[in-house]
Amino acid sequence: MRIDLHTHSDVSDGTDPPAVLVSAAVAAGLDVIALTDHDTLDGIAEAVASAAAGPVAVLPGIELSTCLQGRSVHLLGYGCRPDASLLAELERLRSGRNDRIPTTVRRLTELGYPITLAEVERHAHGTSVGRPHVADALVARGHVADRDEAFERLLADGGPAYVDRYATDLPTAIGLVHAAGGVAVIAHPWSRGSQQTLPEPVIAELAAQTGLDGIEVDHPDHDQPTRTALRGIAERTGLLTTGSSDHHGTGKTRNPLGAETTDPAVLAEILRRITAHGGERGSFAADGARG
Ligand code: AMP
Ligand code: ZN
Ligand code: FE
Ligand code: FE
Repeated sequence: MRIDLHTHSDVSDGTDPPAVLVSAAVAAGLDVIALTDHDTLDGIAEAVASAAAGPVAVLPGIELSTCLQGRSVHLLGYGCRPDASLLAELERLRSGRNDRIPTTVRRLTELGYPITLAEVERHAHGTSVGRPHVADALVARGHVADRDEAFERLLADGGPAYVDRYATDLPTAIGLVHAAGGVAVIAHPWSRGSQQTLPEPVIAELAAQTGLDGIEVDHPDHDQPTRTALRGIAERTGLLTTGSSDHHGTGKTRNPLGAETTDPAVLAEILRRITAHGGERGSFAADGARG
């Protein structure tokens, strides 16, 4: 069983529509993917429907923009029902995403990288617009070679064209995932310098106080010492550990589908918890078998 629990479609900042992502997962020889678009559930129905009767099962997911002590933390939610409280928070997050784009465009133009709002919108196919779509507009204008260069030079957190936006407080976001029947896993906890934001005592406190379910350990942004350290933390705090590619289609070349995978026993436990809390199982039956 090859299981990839973190992928993006063009509903957020991936480059493939959900149905195409599912076909790509079939071609990559995967058995299970979770679709985890940023701050939206809009691609889930298409992904689950297109996986029906095919060899790949789809687990509904989401990647929420959260913050802890003013620093960005991404939270994966698996099996969330589209409850009103969660949908309202997603609206708020997407408004924050939209509201910062005109400021970003103005700042880039002042910095000597002119683009227009319309150009950014042309690259955002779904409901959740992000910096990668701004990067795509910069690439199309020939200002930079690819998304990576756009982030390195301009768009990364704290970079010259970075504009802050609303993010949900992390413990609140974990609560929203649980209230919607879902399982909460911190995405790439130690990528891009976030090791200071999430040292072991903070992770342990989140596990004890919020019932955080797990942490993503095997992720392309984590080197081997990081993975070993995170696995130790998970063992000591009783957290599940997942592995995934964080695939973004052609938007991130270092993250091919199935680049990292999750242990089938961990997926079984995630499905057990989703079923126990009445969450959404996507392609899976209540007993965890392929539905
Ligand atoms: P946003 O959703 O607007 O906050 O943009 C963040 C997204 O940009 C991440 O989820 C990644 O998909 C992508 N990204 C690619 N490279 C970087 C980078 N160096 N720093 C931050 N985000 C990046
Ligand atoms: Zn992304
Ligand atoms: Fe992320
Ligand atoms: Fe992601």
